[in-house]
Amino acid sequence: MKVVYADNNATTMVAPEVVEAMVPYFTRYYGNPSSMHSFGGQVAGNIEIARQQVADILGADPSEIVFTSCGTESDNAAIWGILRANPHKRHIVTSRVEHPAVYNLGKYLAQNGYHVTELGVDSSGMLDLNELTDAVREDTAIVSIMYANNETGVIFPIEEIGNIVKQKGSILHTDAVQAVGKIPLNLSKSTIDLLTLSGHKLHAPKGVGALYIRKGITFAPFVIGGHQERNRRGGTENVPSIIGLGKACELVKKYMNAEHGQVKQLRDKLENEILKKAPDARVNGHKINRLPNTTNLSFEYVEGEAILLLLNEKGICASSGSACTSGSLEPSHVLRAMGVPFTAVHGSVRLSLSRYNTQEEVDYIIEYLPPIIRRLREISPYGRESKVKGQSPSASVRI
Ligand code: PLP
Repeated sequence: MKVVYADNNATTMVAPEVVEAMVPYFTRYYGNPSSMHSFGGQVAGNIEIARQQVADILGADPSEIVFTSCGTESDNAAIWGILRANPHKRHIVTSRVEHPAVYNLGKYLAQNGYHVTELGVDSSGMLDLNELTDAVREDTAIVSIMYANNETGVIFPIEEIGNIVKQKGSILHTDAVQAVGKIPLNLSKSTIDLLTLSGHKLHAPKGVGALYIRKGITFAPFVIGGHQERNRRGGTENVPSIIGLGKACELVKKYMNAEHGQVKQLRDKLENEILKKAPDARVNGHKINRLPNTTNLSFEYVEGEAILLLLNEKGICASSGSACTSGSLEPSHVLRAMGVPFTAVHGSVRLSLSRYNTQEEVDYIIEYLPPIIRRLREISPYGRESKVKGQSPSASVRI
């Protein structure tokens, strides 16, 4: 069956060049990078090349990059690493729209003796920076605010956030899992102290990530063990995946400028055509401060899950929120925090593109999605009723 993959915020295809770069590290260069012999030593050297490749797309120094197992670990390491290094500070600031890797850690910390302030967002998904200014206190160990939202693609003004955090004498961590590889970053001229990235969102494999820790930041390791990663993360390195992550970053550096425009043009066409063809649809999230690849659409009077099932029958892969929370029928905490009406939250679908999507694929989605919405509305008693009476249903319909 034809597959049109439009779920790149959930995960991406591993680039063929990345696979090719990784393969020798399974069978030929399989030494342990910590070994004394040169068979292992050459692997350690190649990890350093990958570290440089990651540092290059961030504008960082290679010594500031720590390899981890995923974005979730990097987020946990950043927050725990700062809390443990500053045990007298028991307050953290975060937002209501973070990925569960930060959001649920915040909930855990709040239940375990820490004070947590969650900043709200407005209807376009943007933060109120005055609220941030008021929230940061003398005992705030860390402010953890994402760079770009995984569900809506909304981009936060992270440098302005960083300026406020610096003025207040705290530390800024940003979860940039969705930003890295999609928009340019330059940490050499930045107020960011710690930054999370994840391999599988930028055409490297799953199970590898990195944490940027600015030089001079006092950090206590989260994974305690051997001396790897300059004592900042114990555990034998996932060598093939680290090599793959390095190669993926090299490709980002080479192609990002061209890709940015191409992906944005496809996303804009997709979004505009669907809005034209499907009535009672809306875009969730800021229209301008947004990742170029993401659109989060709500269709009133239908269930997001029903849309996904019918899209799936046509081979179209999309998502109704964070992939990590799919399988749960809980409405998206991100859309709820934005005050998106109940009926629109339940009828939300996220389409996220990558450099591998084509014009033809976008046309295919435009051809099939609007009729799916029409069909679902026809069989939805609330849809029919609301159209007849001109009012919103009290609850959306499960099909
Ligand atoms: N942060 C954001 C914004 C994400 O989108 C994701 C994954 O969806 C993560 C963190 C977690 O990354 P990983 O899947 O590598 O643990």
